Amino acid sequence: MIAPRPQAARRPRPGIPLGKCRIRSSAQVSPAAIIVTMRVVVIGSGIVGAGAAYHLSRRGASVTVVDAGCQGGATQAGAGIVCPWVDHPEDDDWYRLTREGARAYPALVEELGEDIGYAKVGALLVAEDPVDLEPVRTLLRRRHAGAPEMGDVVDVDSPTELFPPLSDNLSALLVPGAARVDGCSVRDALLRACVARGAEVRTGIAALTQDGQVLLHPADAGQGEGQTVGQGEGRGEGQGEGQGEGQGEGEGRSWRQATPLAAARASAPAAPAGLEALRLAGEGVPVEADMVIVAAGAWTGEVCRPLGVELPVFPRRGQILHATMEGVDTAWWPIVLPRVGPYLLGFPDSRVVVGATVEDVGFSPRVTMGGLDEVIEAGLRVAPGLFNATVTEARAGLRPVYAPGRALIGRLTDRVVVATGLSAYGLTAGPFTGEIAAALALGETPPIDITPYAPA
Ligand SMILES: Cc1cc2nc3c(=O)[nH]c(=O)nc-3n(C[C@H](O)[C@H](O)[C@H](O)COP(=O)(O)OP(=O)(O)OC[C@H]3O[C@@H](n4cnc5c(N)ncnc54)[C@H](O)[C@@H]3O)c2cc1C
Repeated sequence: MIAPRPQAARRPRPGIPLGKCRIRSSAQVSPAAIIVTMRVVVIGSGIVGAGAAYHLSRRGASVTVVDAGCQGGATQAGAGIVCPWVDHPEDDDWYRLTREGARAYPALVEELGEDIGYAKVGALLVAEDPVDLEPVRTLLRRRHAGAPEMGDVVDVDSPTELFPPLSDNLSALLVPGAARVDGCSVRDALLRACVARGAEVRTGIAALTQDGQVLLHPADAGQGEGQTVGQGEGRGEGQGEGQGEGQGEGEGRSWRQATPLAAARASAPAAPAGLEALRLAGEGVPVEADMVIVAAGAWTGEVCRPLGVELPVFPRRGQILHATMEGVDTAWWPIVLPRVGPYLLGFPDSRVVVGATVEDVGFSPRVTMGGLDEVIEAGLRVAPGLFNATVTEARAGLRPVYAPGRALIGRLTDRVVVATGLSAYGLTAGPFTGEIAAALALGETPPIDITPYAPA
């Protein structure tokens, strides 16, 4: 637990709708003594919601975070790759968000002052045919001036010296500025920091009323086996972990080219559909708020429906595997990013993470035989040296995907802000997206132009 930071001076800020705020006054009332506290409820405590709560509390807002503990939250399953420069070659808006998200991490690590699993370990882009590395080399050259933090990209003659289990027939480029991070640790550290500043974290299912009031229901309703708050079978194809946009040849492709897993799509049982899955108990307890941020990941569309908006946000399942190599120091191994197939990354405790499937199967956050088979089979092809690694854990998470393509960040009504759709890039851009959402809720100018992410 880190020591609470001194509270930022609270004073009226430009743009905050004072009429809607709780105003506390000291005994000697003078304009300077009036303290305005904006009350903001954040729905969802994944990395985006935690990031929003953190930035709100830093600015002196009164924050309540509500999380339903839905099975399949993406943050707990995320691998932790922070390497934005290799993807979205033809989508500058996506790229800007992920690049700025990656850029914000070192300062965040410093501010939080605790271990969030963040380390600049570099990324090895690997391919069997060295010709396949040329488009991404060109892309990185083009982007280097605008993102020197990626470091100087170099060829690596013996990738196995950096990541010993790798197959020895691979060519590689090293992007030294790439980092890995532990999503759960980031989220927890962000929440701890805002609790230390007085924020409240509550467990329960938040439901919105038509006019954007928040009602809190007990969390165990609607949280049965394999069941969750959400809607039906997933839709859409094409995007996935680090890929999908900019299809085509040459530099125009994202580096990673994962595709939704067809077998899983065909065989998955139907997930609970529509509002009937949202079994809300009782009337719900109102939670007072001047503003609301909905950062409910794949469940965001469902949460916002009472406002009369249909947000095409859907879940894209990822299954991921953790293994240990006893006695091996994996902490500084680089991330391995093959153009096709699974990625690998090392963490302390001799841990190696291999992932992930990309499946459109609706709200079904299950680890399946087929999913594990795909990850293990493809993982061993890239890194046969993992054959004897001990499988310690398998996780499944639902990436929140916004059907029109990129992230979804903006105001839905005069009191509700939405922040989601980070798909395969939420551990990279999540805390920064939270910062944007916090700025919107407080009536401040966001750190980047958010027009491209506005609700369609
Ligand atoms: C296998 C896998 C690997 C990944 N790897 C990477 C990676 O290497 N790099 C990267 O940048 N990104 C990665 N991602 C993507 C990243 O994890 C997600 O984009 C990110 O975690 C999304 O965060 P979020 O806060 O939007 O959603 P979530 O983490 O899903 O959080 C949403 C929260 O909202 C809560 N909630 C929902 N409905 C309600 C309600 N009605 N009331 C209250 N609470 C509610 C849920 O309980 C949940 O905790 C990966 C994802 C997966 C699944």
